Amino acid sequence: MIKEIEKEKTEVQQLKEKLLIKKRSGAAKVSPQELEKADEFCEEYKVFLNKAKTEREAVKYAVAKAEQAGFEPYDCNKSYKAGDKVYVNNRGKALMLAVIGKNGTKNGVRLGIAHIDSPRLDLKPNPLYENSDLALFKTHYYGGIKKYQWPTIPLALHGVVALKDGSIVEVQVGESETDPCFVITDLLPHLAVEQMSQVMTKAFNGEHLNVLIGSRPFQTDEESESVKLNIMNIIFEKYGIVEQDFLSADLTMVPAFPARDVGFDRSMIGAYGHDDRVCAYPALMAALSVNVPESTVITVLTDREEIGSDGNTGMKSTYMVDFIEDLAQAEGEQVRHVMAKSTCLSADVNAAFDPTYASAFEANNASYINNGAVITKYTGSGGKYSTSDASAEWMAKVRNILDSADVLWQTGELGKVDGGGGGTIAKFVANLNADVVDLGVPVLSMHAPFEVVSKLDVYETYRALYEFYCY
Ligand code: MN
Ligand code: MN
Repeated sequence: MIKEIEKEKTEVQQLKEKLLIKKRSGAAKVSPQELEKADEFCEEYKVFLNKAKTEREAVKYAVAKAEQAGFEPYDCNKSYKAGDKVYVNNRGKALMLAVIGKNGTKNGVRLGIAHIDSPRLDLKPNPLYENSDLALFKTHYYGGIKKYQWPTIPLALHGVVALKDGSIVEVQVGESETDPCFVITDLLPHLAVEQMSQVMTKAFNGEHLNVLIGSRPFQTDEESESVKLNIMNIIFEKYGIVEQDFLSADLTMVPAFPARDVGFDRSMIGAYGHDDRVCAYPALMAALSVNVPESTVITVLTDREEIGSDGNTGMKSTYMVDFIEDLAQAEGEQVRHVMAKSTCLSADVNAAFDPTYASAFEANNASYINNGAVITKYTGSGGKYSTSDASAEWMAKVRNILDSADVLWQTGELGKVDGGGGGTIAKFVANLNADVVDLGVPVLSMHAPFEVVSKLDVYETYRALYEFYCY
Protein backbone atom coordinates (compact mmCIF):
# COMPACT_ATOMS: atom_id res chain seq x y z
CA MET A 1 0.00 0.00 0.00
CA ILE A 2 2.71 2.42 1.01
CA LYS A 3 4.65 1.54 -2.12
CA GLU A 4 1.65 2.24 -4.32
CA ILE A 5 1.24 5.76 -2.87
CA GLU A 6 4.90 6.37 -3.56
CA LYS A 7 4.41 5.18 -7.11
CA GLU A 8 1.38 7.44 -7.52
CA LYS A 9 3.40 10.41 -6.23
CA THR A 10 6.08 9.68 -8.77
CA GLU A 11 3.50 9.67 -11.53
CA VAL A 12 2.21 13.05 -10.35
CA GLN A 13 5.73 14.33 -10.26
CA GLN A 14 6.38 12.98 -13.72
CA LEU A 15 3.24 14.56 -15.06
CA LYS A 16 4.06 17.87 -13.39
CA GLU A 17 7.48 17.81 -14.93
CA LYS A 18 6.05 17.10 -18.35
CA LEU A 19 3.18 19.57 -18.33
CA LEU A 20 3.92 22.47 -15.99
CA ILE A 21 6.48 25.27 -15.99
CA LYS A 22 9.17 24.59 -13.41
CA LYS A 23 8.84 26.84 -10.37
CA ARG A 24 11.50 29.52 -10.34
CA SER A 25 14.38 28.76 -8.05
CA GLY A 26 16.74 31.57 -8.93
CA ALA A 27 20.45 31.16 -8.48
CA ALA A 28 19.92 27.66 -7.02
CA LYS A 29 19.21 26.50 -10.59
CA VAL A 30 22.78 27.01 -11.74
CA SER A 31 26.07 25.46 -10.71
CA PRO A 32 28.65 27.21 -8.50
CA GLN A 33 30.91 27.30 -11.57
CA GLU A 34 28.26 29.22 -13.53
CA LEU A 35 27.90 31.71 -10.66
CA GLU A 36 31.66 32.15 -10.60
CA LYS A 37 31.69 32.88 -14.33
CA ALA A 38 28.91 35.41 -13.83
CA ASP A 39 30.86 37.18 -11.05
CA GLU A 40 33.94 37.29 -13.22
CA PHE A 41 32.00 38.60 -16.24
CA CYS A 42 30.63 41.45 -14.12
CA GLU A 43 34.03 42.73 -12.95
CA GLU A 44 34.68 44.41 -16.31
CA TYR A 45 31.01 45.40 -16.52
CA LYS A 46 31.55 47.57 -13.42
CA VAL A 47 34.57 49.17 -15.11
CA PHE A 48 32.36 49.92 -18.13
CA LEU A 49 29.66 51.46 -15.89
CA ASN A 50 32.21 53.79 -14.30
CA LYS A 51 33.81 54.78 -17.60
CA ALA A 52 30.63 55.15 -19.63
CA LYS A 53 27.99 57.27 -17.92
CA THR A 54 26.90 58.96 -21.15
CA GLU A 55 26.23 57.60 -24.64
CA ARG A 56 29.35 59.35 -25.96
CA GLU A 57 31.52 57.69 -23.32
CA ALA A 58 29.89 54.30 -24.04
CA VAL A 59 30.65 54.63 -27.77
CA LYS A 60 34.27 55.51 -26.98
CA TYR A 61 34.64 52.46 -24.75
CA ALA A 62 32.96 50.17 -27.28
CA VAL A 63 35.04 51.41 -30.24
CA ALA A 64 38.28 50.85 -28.29
CA LYS A 65 37.21 47.29 -27.36
CA ALA A 66 36.01 46.56 -30.90
CA GLU A 67 39.26 47.76 -32.49
CA GLN A 68 41.22 45.55 -30.10
CA ALA A 69 39.06 42.64 -31.31
CA GLY A 70 39.80 43.37 -34.97
CA PHE A 71 36.83 45.54 -35.99
CA GLU A 72 37.56 48.23 -38.60
CA PRO A 73 35.59 51.31 -39.66
CA TYR A 74 33.11 50.28 -42.37
CA ASP A 75 33.83 51.46 -45.91
CA CYS A 76 30.89 51.04 -48.31
CA ASN A 77 33.27 50.93 -51.30
CA LYS A 78 35.14 47.93 -49.93
CA SER A 79 33.95 44.34 -50.33
CA TYR A 80 33.80 42.10 -47.30
CA LYS A 81 33.91 38.35 -46.76
CA ALA A 82 32.58 36.04 -44.06
CA GLY A 83 34.18 36.69 -40.68
CA ASP A 84 35.10 40.32 -41.46
CA LYS A 85 34.35 42.72 -38.60
CA VAL A 86 33.32 46.32 -39.21
CA TYR A 87 31.79 49.19 -37.29
CA VAL A 88 29.95 52.43 -38.00
CA ASN A 89 30.18 55.25 -35.48
CA ASN A 90 27.13 57.53 -35.79
CA ARG A 91 28.21 60.98 -34.53
CA GLY A 92 29.98 59.53 -31.50
CA LYS A 93 26.60 58.80 -29.90
CA ALA A 94 25.51 55.51 -31.45
CA LEU A 95 27.47 52.57 -32.78
CA MET A 96 26.88 49.60 -35.07
CA LEU A 97 29.16 46.55 -35.06
CA ALA A 98 28.79 43.96 -37.80
CA VAL A 99 30.33 40.52 -38.24
CA ILE A 100 29.81 39.35 -41.83
CA GLY A 101 28.16 35.93 -42.00
CA LYS A 102 28.74 32.96 -44.33
CA ASN A 103 25.41 33.72 -45.99
CA GLY A 104 25.78 37.49 -45.66
CA THR A 105 22.42 39.24 -45.62
CA LYS A 106 20.66 36.80 -47.98
CA ASN A 107 18.67 35.06 -45.22
CA GLY A 108 18.22 38.24 -43.19
CA VAL A 109 20.53 39.64 -40.50
CA ARG A 110 20.63 38.95 -36.76
CA LEU A 111 20.17 42.16 -34.83
CA GLY A 112 21.01 42.78 -31.18
CA ILE A 113 20.08 46.32 -30.17
CA ALA A 114 20.62 47.97 -26.79
CA HIS A 115 20.55 51.65 -25.83
CA ILE A 116 23.37 53.55 -24.17
CA ASP A 117 21.55 56.69 -23.04
CA SER A 118 20.16 56.84 -19.48
CA PRO A 119 17.91 59.24 -17.54
CA ARG A 120 19.87 62.27 -16.33
CA LEU A 121 19.81 66.04 -15.89
CA ASP A 122 20.95 67.95 -18.98
CA LEU A 123 22.09 71.55 -18.54
CA LYS A 124 19.74 74.07 -20.13
CA PRO A 125 21.18 76.08 -23.07
CA ASN A 126 21.52 79.05 -20.72
CA PRO A 127 22.32 77.25 -17.45
CA LEU A 128 24.44 79.54 -15.29
CA TYR A 129 22.88 81.97 -12.82
CA GLU A 130 23.43 83.51 -9.44
CA ASN A 131 20.90 83.92 -6.67
CA SER A 132 21.50 85.01 -3.06
CA ASP A 133 25.27 84.73 -3.49
CA LEU A 134 25.06 81.15 -4.74
CA ALA A 135 25.96 80.05 -8.28
CA LEU A 136 23.69 77.42 -9.83
CA PHE A 137 23.03 75.52 -13.06
CA LYS A 138 19.50 75.21 -14.44
CA THR A 139 18.82 71.71 -15.76
CA HIS A 140 16.24 70.03 -17.96
CA TYR A 141 15.72 66.39 -17.09
CA TYR A 142 16.19 63.76 -19.83
CA GLY A 143 14.04 60.64 -19.69
CA GLY A 144 11.62 59.43 -17.04
CA ILE A 145 12.78 60.30 -13.55
CA LYS A 146 11.21 60.55 -10.10
CA LYS A 147 12.47 64.06 -9.44
CA TYR A 148 12.65 63.69 -5.66
CA GLN A 149 15.40 61.06 -6.06
CA TRP A 150 17.94 63.54 -7.45
CA PRO A 151 18.50 66.15 -4.68
CA THR A 152 21.12 65.61 -1.96
CA ILE A 153 23.22 63.09 -3.89
CA PRO A 154 26.68 63.92 -5.30
CA LEU A 155 26.51 64.78 -9.01
CA ALA A 156 29.21 64.87 -11.68
CA LEU A 157 29.28 66.98 -14.85
CA HIS A 158 29.92 65.09 -18.10
CA GLY A 159 29.80 66.12 -21.72
CA VAL A 160 31.23 68.17 -24.52
CA VAL A 161 31.28 71.83 -25.51
CA ALA A 162 31.60 72.59 -29.22
CA LEU A 163 33.34 75.90 -29.98
CA LYS A 164 32.64 78.11 -32.98
CA ASP A 165 35.99 77.16 -34.55
CA GLY A 166 34.80 73.54 -34.67
CA SER A 167 36.96 72.29 -31.81
CA ILE A 168 35.46 70.12 -29.08
CA VAL A 169 36.15 70.54 -25.37
CA GLU A 170 35.51 67.44 -23.27
CA VAL A 171 34.30 68.05 -19.74
CA GLN A 172 34.23 65.64 -16.83
CA VAL A 173 34.18 66.92 -13.25
CA GLY A 174 33.17 65.00 -10.15
CA GLU A 175 34.25 61.40 -10.78
CA SER A 176 37.65 61.31 -9.09
CA GLU A 177 37.77 61.49 -5.30
CA THR A 178 39.91 64.60 -5.51
CA ASP A 179 37.42 66.36 -7.81
CA PRO A 180 34.71 68.59 -6.42
CA CYS A 181 31.16 67.37 -7.06
CA PHE A 182 27.82 69.18 -7.33
CA VAL A 183 24.46 68.82 -5.62
CA ILE A 184 20.79 69.76 -5.74
CA THR A 185 19.63 71.01 -2.36
CA ASP A 186 16.42 70.08 -0.53
CA LEU A 187 14.42 71.72 2.22
CA LEU A 188 15.10 70.69 5.81
CA PRO A 189 12.28 68.60 7.40
CA HIS A 190 11.79 71.25 10.10
CA LEU A 191 10.48 73.70 7.51
CA ALA A 192 8.93 71.22 5.09
CA VAL A 193 5.43 70.99 6.56
CA GLU A 194 3.90 72.46 3.39
CA GLN A 195 6.21 70.56 0.99
CA MET A 196 5.54 67.23 2.71
CA SER A 197 1.78 67.65 2.44
CA GLN A 198 1.94 68.05 -1.35
CA VAL A 199 1.67 65.22 -3.89
CA MET A 200 5.10 64.04 -5.05
CA THR A 201 4.89 65.59 -8.53
CA LYS A 202 4.13 69.02 -7.01
CA ALA A 203 6.51 68.83 -4.06
CA PHE A 204 9.46 68.52 -6.38
CA ASN A 205 9.09 69.74 -9.98
CA GLY A 206 11.45 70.24 -12.92
CA GLU A 207 12.33 73.81 -12.00
CA HIS A 208 13.56 72.63 -8.60
CA LEU A 209 16.37 70.68 -10.27
CA ASN A 210 18.94 73.47 -9.85
CA VAL A 211 22.49 72.34 -9.20
CA LEU A 212 24.69 74.13 -6.69
CA ILE A 213 28.08 74.87 -8.29
CA GLY A 214 29.73 77.62 -6.20
CA SER A 215 29.46 80.29 -3.54
CA ARG A 216 32.52 82.58 -3.48
CA PRO A 217 32.57 85.99 -5.23
CA PHE A 218 35.22 87.03 -7.75
CA GLN A 219 36.25 89.98 -5.61
CA THR A 220 35.04 91.27 -2.29
CA ASP A 221 33.57 94.45 -3.80
CA GLU A 222 29.86 94.99 -4.29
CA GLU A 223 29.68 94.11 -8.04
CA SER A 224 26.48 92.28 -8.83
CA GLU A 225 26.67 88.62 -9.95
CA SER A 226 30.27 88.33 -8.77
CA VAL A 227 29.80 84.68 -7.68
CA LYS A 228 28.63 83.83 -11.19
CA LEU A 229 31.63 85.73 -12.57
CA ASN A 230 34.01 83.82 -10.31
CA ILE A 231 32.61 80.44 -11.39
CA MET A 232 32.68 81.40 -15.08
CA ASN A 233 36.28 82.50 -14.61
CA ILE A 234 37.24 79.13 -13.08
CA ILE A 235 35.52 77.32 -15.95
CA PHE A 236 37.27 79.61 -18.48
CA GLU A 237 40.69 79.00 -16.93
CA LYS A 238 40.20 75.22 -16.99
CA TYR A 239 38.36 74.75 -20.31
CA GLY A 240 38.73 78.01 -22.25
CA ILE A 241 34.97 78.40 -22.62
CA VAL A 242 32.81 81.49 -22.11
CA GLU A 243 29.15 81.72 -21.08
CA GLN A 244 27.87 81.79 -24.68
CA ASP A 245 29.58 78.45 -25.40
CA PHE A 246 26.98 76.69 -23.23
CA LEU A 247 24.63 77.22 -26.18
CA SER A 248 26.59 74.66 -28.23
CA ALA A 249 27.16 72.04 -25.57
CA ASP A 250 25.89 68.60 -24.58
CA LEU A 251 26.51 68.82 -20.85
CA THR A 252 24.75 66.68 -18.30
CA MET A 253 24.66 65.97 -14.57
CA VAL A 254 24.86 62.30 -13.59
CA PRO A 255 25.28 60.61 -10.19
CA ALA A 256 28.93 60.90 -9.12
CA PHE A 257 29.22 57.56 -7.30
CA PRO A 258 30.80 54.43 -8.82
CA ALA A 259 29.26 50.97 -9.30
CA ARG A 260 29.30 48.89 -6.12
CA ASP A 261 28.61 45.28 -5.19
CA VAL A 262 25.35 44.99 -3.25
CA GLY A 263 24.59 42.43 -0.53
CA PHE A 264 26.68 40.40 1.91
CA ASP A 265 26.92 37.78 -0.83
CA ARG A 266 27.97 40.37 -3.45
CA SER A 267 25.36 38.86 -5.75
CA MET A 268 24.13 42.20 -7.12
CA ILE A 269 25.51 45.45 -8.53
CA GLY A 270 24.20 48.88 -7.64
CA ALA A 271 25.01 51.65 -10.10
CA TYR A 272 23.79 54.58 -12.14
CA GLY A 273 22.73 53.74 -15.69
CA HIS A 274 22.14 49.97 -15.68
CA ASP A 275 19.20 50.79 -17.97
CA ASP A 276 20.41 50.03 -20.52
CA ARG A 277 24.16 49.57 -20.21
CA VAL A 278 23.38 46.29 -18.48
CA CYS A 279 22.24 45.01 -21.89
CA ALA A 280 24.63 47.12 -23.99
CA TYR A 281 27.65 45.56 -22.29
CA PRO A 282 26.51 41.93 -22.80
CA ALA A 283 25.56 42.80 -26.42
CA LEU A 284 29.01 44.30 -27.02
CA MET A 285 30.73 41.28 -25.44
CA ALA A 286 28.59 38.91 -27.54
CA ALA A 287 29.49 40.89 -30.69
CA LEU A 288 33.18 40.58 -29.86
CA SER A 289 32.84 36.82 -29.23
CA VAL A 290 31.28 35.97 -32.61
CA ASN A 291 33.66 34.46 -35.18
CA VAL A 292 32.08 33.45 -38.48
CA PRO A 293 28.28 33.44 -38.05
CA GLU A 294 25.80 31.90 -40.50
CA SER A 295 24.01 35.19 -41.18
CA THR A 296 25.55 38.63 -40.73
CA VAL A 297 25.29 39.71 -37.08
CA ILE A 298 24.74 43.39 -36.32
CA THR A 299 24.96 44.82 -32.81
CA VAL A 300 23.56 48.31 -32.39
CA LEU A 301 24.26 50.52 -29.39
CA THR A 302 21.72 53.25 -29.88
CA ASP A 303 20.92 56.63 -28.36
CA ARG A 304 17.73 58.59 -27.50
CA GLU A 305 15.70 55.57 -26.30
CA GLU A 306 14.82 57.22 -23.00
CA ILE A 307 13.11 60.11 -24.79
CA GLY A 308 11.24 58.09 -27.41
CA SER A 309 14.02 57.30 -29.92
CA ASP A 310 13.60 60.55 -31.89
CA GLY A 311 16.67 62.16 -33.43
CA ASN A 312 19.40 61.11 -35.84
CA THR A 313 21.14 58.82 -33.33
CA GLY A 314 17.90 57.16 -32.16
CA MET A 315 16.08 54.13 -33.55
CA LYS A 316 13.49 56.25 -35.39
CA SER A 317 16.39 57.46 -37.55
CA THR A 318 17.23 55.61 -40.77
CA TYR A 319 20.84 55.05 -39.77
CA MET A 320 20.54 51.32 -39.07
CA VAL A 321 18.46 50.42 -42.11
CA ASP A 322 20.77 52.54 -44.30
CA PHE A 323 23.73 50.47 -43.10
CA ILE A 324 21.87 47.22 -43.74
CA GLU A 325 21.01 48.53 -47.22
CA ASP A 326 24.71 49.13 -47.90
CA LEU A 327 25.55 45.58 -46.81
CA ALA A 328 22.65 44.15 -48.84
CA GLN A 329 23.43 46.09 -52.02
CA ALA A 330 27.06 44.95 -51.93
CA GLU A 331 25.71 41.38 -52.11
CA GLY A 332 23.11 42.18 -54.75
CA GLU A 333 20.23 41.91 -52.28
CA GLN A 334 17.36 44.32 -51.71
CA VAL A 335 17.10 45.75 -48.22
CA ARG A 336 13.35 45.16 -47.96
CA HIS A 337 13.82 41.45 -48.64
CA VAL A 338 16.65 41.35 -46.09
CA MET A 339 14.55 43.09 -43.44
CA ALA A 340 11.60 40.75 -43.93
CA LYS A 341 13.83 37.78 -43.08
CA SER A 342 15.74 39.49 -40.26
CA THR A 343 15.39 38.71 -36.57
CA CYS A 344 16.15 40.90 -33.60
CA LEU A 345 16.61 40.73 -29.87
CA SER A 346 15.87 44.18 -28.54
CA ALA A 347 18.16 44.03 -25.52
CA ASP A 348 16.47 46.12 -22.86
CA VAL A 349 15.63 45.82 -19.19
CA ASN A 350 12.39 44.95 -17.44
CA ALA A 351 11.20 45.76 -13.91
CA ALA A 352 12.23 43.10 -11.39
CA PHE A 353 9.56 42.05 -8.88
CA ASP A 354 10.06 44.09 -5.72
CA PRO A 355 8.43 42.60 -2.57
CA THR A 356 8.24 46.06 -0.99
CA TYR A 357 6.07 47.26 -3.89
CA ALA A 358 4.42 43.94 -4.67
CA SER A 359 1.06 45.51 -5.53
CA ALA A 360 2.54 47.08 -8.69
CA PHE A 361 3.26 43.64 -10.13
CA GLU A 362 1.29 40.56 -11.13
CA ALA A 363 3.36 37.83 -9.49
CA ASN A 364 2.75 35.14 -12.14
CA ASN A 365 3.97 37.38 -14.95
CA ALA A 366 6.69 39.45 -13.33
CA SER A 367 10.43 38.91 -13.79
CA TYR A 368 12.58 38.11 -10.77
CA ILE A 369 16.16 38.88 -9.79
CA ASN A 370 18.49 35.86 -10.31
CA ASN A 371 16.11 34.06 -12.66
CA GLY A 372 18.05 34.92 -15.77
CA ALA A 373 17.47 36.93 -18.91
CA VAL A 374 13.88 38.16 -19.11
CA ILE A 375 11.94 37.90 -22.36
CA THR A 376 9.24 40.55 -22.62
CA LYS A 377 6.75 39.56 -25.32
CA TYR A 378 5.22 43.02 -25.34
CA THR A 379 5.46 46.29 -23.40
CA GLY A 380 3.18 49.29 -24.07
CA SER A 381 0.26 50.33 -21.90
CA GLY A 382 -3.49 49.86 -21.54
CA GLY A 383 -4.81 47.45 -24.17
CA LYS A 384 -1.34 46.70 -25.58
CA TYR A 385 -1.08 50.18 -27.11
CA SER A 386 2.22 51.35 -28.60
CA THR A 387 3.97 48.01 -28.62
CA SER A 388 4.97 45.34 -31.09
CA ASP A 389 3.74 42.08 -29.65
CA ALA A 390 6.23 39.36 -30.62
CA SER A 391 4.59 36.58 -32.65
CA ALA A 392 4.02 33.07 -31.29
CA GLU A 393 6.35 31.73 -33.98
CA TRP A 394 9.24 34.04 -33.10
CA MET A 395 8.75 33.38 -29.35
CA ALA A 396 8.97 29.62 -30.06
CA LYS A 397 12.19 30.11 -31.99
CA VAL A 398 13.74 32.14 -29.17
CA ARG A 399 12.68 29.54 -26.56
CA ASN A 400 14.32 26.86 -28.65
CA ILE A 401 17.58 28.80 -29.04
CA LEU A 402 17.84 29.50 -25.30
CA ASP A 403 16.79 26.05 -24.08
CA SER A 404 19.15 24.31 -26.50
CA ALA A 405 22.05 26.19 -24.95
CA ASP A 406 20.77 25.85 -21.36
CA VAL A 407 20.52 29.61 -20.89
CA LEU A 408 18.69 30.62 -17.70
CA TRP A 409 15.72 32.73 -18.79
CA GLN A 410 12.26 33.81 -17.69
CA THR A 411 9.39 35.89 -19.00
CA GLY A 412 8.09 39.16 -17.64
CA GLU A 413 5.37 41.71 -18.20
CA LEU A 414 6.02 45.33 -17.32
CA GLY A 415 3.90 45.53 -14.13
CA LYS A 416 0.25 44.68 -13.77
CA VAL A 417 -2.38 45.50 -16.39
CA ASP A 418 -3.30 49.22 -16.36
CA GLY A 419 -0.61 49.90 -13.74
CA GLY A 420 1.27 52.25 -16.09
CA GLY A 421 3.49 51.17 -18.92
CA GLY A 422 6.50 51.83 -21.06
CA GLY A 423 8.20 50.88 -24.26
CA THR A 424 11.46 49.92 -25.88
CA ILE A 425 12.98 50.16 -29.36
CA ALA A 426 11.37 46.82 -30.31
CA LYS A 427 8.42 48.44 -32.07
CA PHE A 428 10.64 50.55 -34.34
CA VAL A 429 12.45 47.42 -35.50
CA ALA A 430 9.14 45.57 -35.92
CA ASN A 431 7.94 48.46 -38.09
CA LEU A 432 10.87 47.70 -40.44
CA ASN A 433 9.20 44.30 -40.99
CA ALA A 434 11.62 42.21 -38.90
CA ASP A 435 10.79 39.72 -36.13
CA VAL A 436 11.71 41.18 -32.75
CA VAL A 437 11.27 40.58 -29.04
CA ASP A 438 12.71 42.24 -25.94
CA LEU A 439 15.27 40.32 -23.93
CA GLY A 440 17.32 41.76 -21.08
CA VAL A 441 18.06 42.07 -17.41
CA PRO A 442 15.48 42.57 -14.61
CA VAL A 443 16.24 45.76 -12.66
CA LEU A 444 15.25 46.94 -9.16
CA SER A 445 14.70 50.71 -8.74
CA MET A 446 14.75 51.23 -12.52
CA HIS A 447 15.53 54.85 -13.57
CA ALA A 448 16.71 55.73 -10.04
CA PRO A 449 20.19 57.24 -9.59
CA PHE A 450 21.30 53.88 -8.09
CA GLU A 451 19.68 50.90 -9.85
CA VAL A 452 20.23 47.27 -8.84
CA VAL A 453 20.75 44.15 -10.98
CA SER A 454 21.91 40.58 -10.35
CA LYS A 455 25.29 39.46 -11.66
CA LEU A 456 23.85 36.13 -12.77
CA ASP A 457 21.19 37.86 -14.89
CA VAL A 458 23.82 40.04 -16.60
CA TYR A 459 25.84 36.96 -17.53
CA GLU A 460 22.82 34.99 -18.74
CA THR A 461 21.82 37.94 -20.94
CA TYR A 462 25.28 37.83 -22.51
CA ARG A 463 24.86 34.07 -23.10
CA ALA A 464 21.38 34.58 -24.59
CA LEU A 465 22.65 37.18 -27.06
CA TYR A 466 25.67 35.11 -27.99
CA GLU A 467 23.54 32.00 -28.63
CA PHE A 468 21.12 34.06 -30.73
CA TYR A 469 24.00 35.40 -32.82
CA CYS A 470 25.44 31.93 -33.38
CA TYR A 471 22.43 29.65 -33.84
MN1 MN B 1 15.82 50.78 -21.39
MN1 MN C 1 14.64 53.27 -19.46
